[in-house]
Amino acid sequence: MDHVQSLKCLVCGAEYAPDQIDYVCPKHGDDGIVDVQYRYDRIAASWSKAKLAEDRNMTMWRYRPLMAIREDSPLPPLAVGWTPLYRTDRLAALMGLKNLWVKDDGRQPTASLKDRASAMAVVKGREKGAEIITTASTGNAAAALTGLCASVGQKNVIFVPQTAPAAKVAQLLVFGGTVLLVRGTYDDAFELCLKASKEFGWYNRNTAYNPYMTEGKKTVVLEICEQLAWKAPDRIFVSVGDGCIIGGIHKGLNDLMALGWIDKMPKIMGVQAAGSAAIYQAWKDGTAGIDMKAIDAQTIADSISAGMPRDRIKALAAARETGGAYIKVSDEEILAQIPVLGQSCGVFAEPAGAASLAGLKKALDDKLVSPDERIVVLVTGNGLKDIASARKSVGEPYVVDANLGAVQKLVGEWKTRGAAR
Ligand SMILES: *Cc1c(COP(=O)(O)O)cnc(C)c1O
Ligand SMILES: [Zn+2]
Repeated sequence: MDHVQSLKCLVCGAEYAPDQIDYVCPKHGDDGIVDVQYRYDRIAASWSKAKLAEDRNMTMWRYRPLMAIREDSPLPPLAVGWTPLYRTDRLAALMGLKNLWVKDDGRQPTASLKDRASAMAVVKGREKGAEIITTASTGNAAAALTGLCASVGQKNVIFVPQTAPAAKVAQLLVFGGTVLLVRGTYDDAFELCLKASKEFGWYNRNTAYNPYMTEGKKTVVLEICEQLAWKAPDRIFVSVGDGCIIGGIHKGLNDLMALGWIDKMPKIMGVQAAGSAAIYQAWKDGTAGIDMKAIDAQTIADSISAGMPRDRIKALAAARETGGAYIKVSDEEILAQIPVLGQSCGVFAEPAGAASLAGLKKALDDKLVSPDERIVVLVTGNGLKDIASARKSVGEPYVVDANLGAVQKLVGEWKTRGAAR
């Protein structure tokens, strides 16, 4: 890995060789989040936009020169990445914007953006010869890890809160994970998973403990910029729980700036649920990530429910260093955007996936965004992950007897009400 310089601690600045530590800077317990530092001159010497344009590998691994993996590492076969970026003129008009794109990462193999990180975890775990890979998760990271593990026959142990949506738990079992439903919150599951991995020597994928998750997640923004022909957007809206995705977006953009592939840094807009808004609050108060205190998290958007956001340092930097902001939205505002996204784009999002659009709406209402900006909204997870919430966001269907007369009666009612859809 001669394109990787070091793993740099974001708390004290200490730098480590990549084979020196697997996870955090040992000086701060489990909180010493590190960041992979690259030698961009070496990367640029053998890679270019033109070379990338000829690459037929339409997965996240097309950005392999910017990933901290060994040259000879085998890659899992599931096709992760290169999800569609839709230009959405009807949604743009609805929002009062001129240029709006929706990046649909619900279209990943296990239906959330987490596949990008879990694919990295499988590669890094196997570089280490791990017998077992483990993770704590609100559901999606685990579904992603079990799916990616299944694709290469890798054993895994999963810690999720007992309250995880049924569809996510079903995915874990179908993919053959060893599933531990924890009587407690995601934060409890996270701590338990850390303890277990230390006790048993399992390779740990936990967000912000394992530094390579950022490197996997950043591929979403590398794709966005390539899909926009390297004309970076003005703003990117993303929902935030632990803060790893938003940190990854910042990292990917920093990479592209360092390579000179984009010429301006987009403003990164983090969206949190009002009931799980620890990072929003710290951003507002000017609190440093390392000083944040745990809160009780409670939101319908289970994927962004995090009382002690693990990647808080990177998450705060993403908004602070790009001139972005944090926004909080209520569960009602989140649910309201599920059918808006569905009906204007044909994209079905789980609550955490629609939260980004709810954040954009609020930012427009608060005049934080001007109508001529080029804006990307990231949809992080598919609506089929949580149909109970989806059903809460919409009305009821018609129920009819199985004869034409019943339909005629209904159509007649629509005509008088002028309400046919
Ligand atoms: C994990 C997840 C998020 C939040 O990502 P963080 O890295 O925890 O901030 C948002 N949406 C979905 C669908 C997720 O699965
Ligand atoms: Zn340190």
